[in-house]
Amino acid sequence: MDAVTTERLAQLIRTRQPCVALTGAGVSTESGIPDFRSPTGIWATYDPMEVASIDGFRRDPARAWEFYARRLAVLAEVEPNEGHRALAELEARGLVEAVVTQNVDGLHQRAGSRNVVEVHGSVRTSGCLDCGTPAGLERVLELLPLPTCECGGILKPGVVMFGELLPEAAFAYAGELARAAGLLLVVGSSLEVHPVAGLPFETLRGGGKLAIVNRGATALDEHADLVLDGSAGELLRETVQEVGY
Ligand SMILES: [Zn+2]
Repeated sequence: MDAVTTERLAQLIRTRQPCVALTGAGVSTESGIPDFRSPTGIWATYDPMEVASIDGFRRDPARAWEFYARRLAVLAEVEPNEGHRALAELEARGLVEAVVTQNVDGLHQRAGSRNVVEVHGSVRTSGCLDCGTPAGLERVLELLPLPTCECGGILKPGVVMFGELLPEAAFAYAGELARAAGLLLVVGSSLEVHPVAGLPFETLRGGGKLAIVNRGATALDEHADLVLDGSAGELLRETVQEVGY
């Protein structure tokens, strides 16, 4: 681990307030949640376009729910990792204003983050495709294998599927946060999924800076003040120590 680089990140966080975190799958892979872009685990068994697109879901909701039931079972067994905990701690110290996340797993909240903006939705709630009535996770688990609403409609997990628009209010809030940020701290995202990948440009246009913590290169490395390549958990834990109290 390079102490100089985490020291530089700690300095950016201290001096470029407000700091907003933008997180992607790379934060959660360290908790053991597979990323659909690297076809391992359940993503090797199911075709994302079949089970994670709105058209595929409508065509065969039973097959899609079989997949989501397995994802929910994975989620029940995993824990937030050092990366989630570091961001929660920075928020508790007043150094991170919000976590904008592409993840739907709820691990940021479980780690203690309070202001979490879920731009790709969440698996914790589902909604009826016909009448829109929401259903919580516990209810949905009782209703498996094919959860339906009291009206007879099919329940759909509250995650944004391929072919669906992002939740408008959450994405508008994410844009506001990005524009006002002194520092946008990208963690575990290769910044390839639009429109989320446009948020760093909102920060840069607003005069803020960009720091990236990710395994491997991202699409926006050349625009960043600082790029740290490695484990989000290790790098953020070290950064929190550097920040001090
Ligand atoms: Zn309904």
